[in-house]
Amino acid sequence: MPGKKLIAANWKMNKTIPEAVSFISDFKNLIKNPKNEIVICPPFTALNEVKKSIKGTKIKLGAQNMHFEEKGAFTGEISAAMLKDTGCEYVILGHSERRHYSNETDELINKKIKTALKNNLKIILCIGEALKQRESNETMKIIESQLKNCLKNISNNEMKNIAIAYEPVWAIGTGKNATPEQAEEAHKFIRQLLKKSYNENVSNNTRILYGGSVNEKNAGELLAMKNIDGFLIGGASLNPRSFAEICSA
Ligand code: PEP
Repeated sequence: MPGKKLIAANWKMNKTIPEAVSFISDFKNLIKNPKNEIVICPPFTALNEVKKSIKGTKIKLGAQNMHFEEKGAFTGEISAAMLKDTGCEYVILGHSERRHYSNETDELINKKIKTALKNNLKIILCIGEALKQRESNETMKIIESQLKNCLKNISNNEMKNIAIAYEPVWAIGTGKNATPEQAEEAHKFIRQLLKKSYNENVSNNTRILYGGSVNEKNAGELLAMKNIDGFLIGGASLNPRSFAEICSA
């Protein structure tokens, strides 16, 4: 299984610049020698100041989204080069909120992945089924098609820069996390799909994160599962104490 666990914070549309800087200052005091790889994804407006605040630590910077075009007349959008410019190492792509509110499709996400890779950004690719799909036993079918379409024409070598976040939509921000067994079943299936589409090496080395109502209480038992290689965390990542506890789980 992949080496270091990856714990990523997705702050979504939360925190002004002073709030973001204050979080980092508290968090740094709580987490001195992290064993896991930690990535913080603030809103675009706070990227620059968070970058300055994490200088000299092992904490890494990520963004929550980007446009698939390199540059041009796309009012209000942010490019991959701009993210690199600000010091981002990671970008979250395909989050269910963007699929839902901004109608992002697997095809669009695939274009974004290719542009991010061209610009040397690492990717946290989100996939996961909605409640209706789980209830009608379509979970594995949905995971398979999202994975296949989002990763279309992505090479073995490029997979080194991609982590998959399994985020069942019904568990995001609802306080209703998947049980460790439910998450493990999906993660194991994703690993098998990676082996089928790529090879054993890619399958063994790709980090598969779980996301959906992770908190300091349930993190330990989820992380103990064989195929869970880290987390993507929304709500609980807004509080430095909770996030620090999860990072040390
Ligand atoms: C997320 O937005 O990626 C997420 C997992 O949110 P939460 O932890 O709040 O469920």
